[in-house]
Amino acid sequence: MASVLVSAERLIDGRGGDPVPDAGVLVEDGLIAWVGPVAAAPDADERIALAGTLLPGFIDAHVHFALPGGGLDLGKLLVEPPPVRVLKIAAAMGATLRAGVTTVRDLGFLGPSLAALTDATPAPRLLNAIAMLSSTGGHGDFPLPPGLDPAGLLALLDVRAAIADGPDAVTRMARELMRDGADVLKVAATGGISTPADGPDDEGFTLAELRAIVEVAAARGRTVAAHAIGTAGIATALDAGVHSIEHGFGLTPDLAAQMASQGTFLVPTLTVMAQTGDPAVLGQEVYEKAARWRDRLQGALRLAMDAGVRIATGTDAGLGSHHGANLGELAHLESMGLSPMAAIVAGTSTAAAVCGLESEVGTLEPGKRADLVVAAGNPLDDLTTLTDPDSITLVLQNGKVVKQKSSATA
Ligand SMILES: [Zn+2]
Repeated sequence: MASVLVSAERLIDGRGGDPVPDAGVLVEDGLIAWVGPVAAAPDADERIALAGTLLPGFIDAHVHFALPGGGLDLGKLLVEPPPVRVLKIAAAMGATLRAGVTTVRDLGFLGPSLAALTDATPAPRLLNAIAMLSSTGGHGDFPLPPGLDPAGLLALLDVRAAIADGPDAVTRMARELMRDGADVLKVAATGGISTPADGPDDEGFTLAELRAIVEVAAARGRTVAAHAIGTAGIATALDAGVHSIEHGFGLTPDLAAQMASQGTFLVPTLTVMAQTGDPAVLGQEVYEKAARWRDRLQGALRLAMDAGVRIATGTDAGLGSHHGANLGELAHLESMGLSPMAAIVAGTSTAAAVCGLESEVGTLEPGKRADLVVAAGNPLDDLTTLTDPDSITLVLQNGKVVKQKSSATA
């Protein structure tokens, strides 16, 4: 297979060190064979030399491809013809990839047959949770419109309900999800901001239930991502040994210290919270609830940073934001006090570690998969060169060009 040298005005390798000027990556057989200054580059069959900045492909550790973005309208979703829905999900996958996101974790609503779309359409590498494990009346227990046959409807939509109570039942449910292809398990450790039957201060599962899920996941090499907003649910999820806390707005200094010492990741999903500012969209009650938690974001992020918690990018894309705007999360992280370089690390090497893929993706190092992104400008001066998909001029996945803007050649 032909080797390709991809180079740009500067290279940021995803590990947090200084950018390397006029540097490139040699791609061979889908992998990175060499990284360094262009002047010292080995011979290549082909060269792609671009203006701007060469970076690792980005990773969004929290998306929902099966949700359309722009506010969740369950009624509309239920009447959408399945072929239309399939094409919209394929479009969401393509838009995400073209935005420079070459790997995602989908944390719910994408059933196994929809996940198989990634074999047939341009899409990020996918780790799929299939569904969110939830207790009865918990965050994942959605009431369906009356008069509908839930089993038939969910099967048609390829949406899995994963409601279980007690350690034995949650163990079985977790095993069923893994049997059906779950790469990661998602649990509702607290209620949500918009769920009718419980709220962020309510705990979704007991410690015994969460421990059972973590144990059965670990036995099969999977990790557990916990939706956890309120303090009590975060504490229980941490005691159970979950791998990542999603949202985490109710963090305290003690819990931040526990996360740092246990190596638990925080995926703060600032993008979805930034979209809870409109009472007309959400309704007054949900809007007020969201506003109370939004006020705690900055403090939670500060505690996490001070304690040394590893923070990773996740957007909740599909729930609030449209697919393909994923790297806006980097600018939100910057607005919370991370440096542009720290935000890039959150979106590359740290997010790779959240996915358990740190030996394969997330940095530009020899031996890793050749997932590469070129952005037109310098993100260390201005992150909008990453957050605007139009300024992403080149995307390679496994060494294959999946997007190239021809006008961008230097
Ligand atoms: Zn989510």
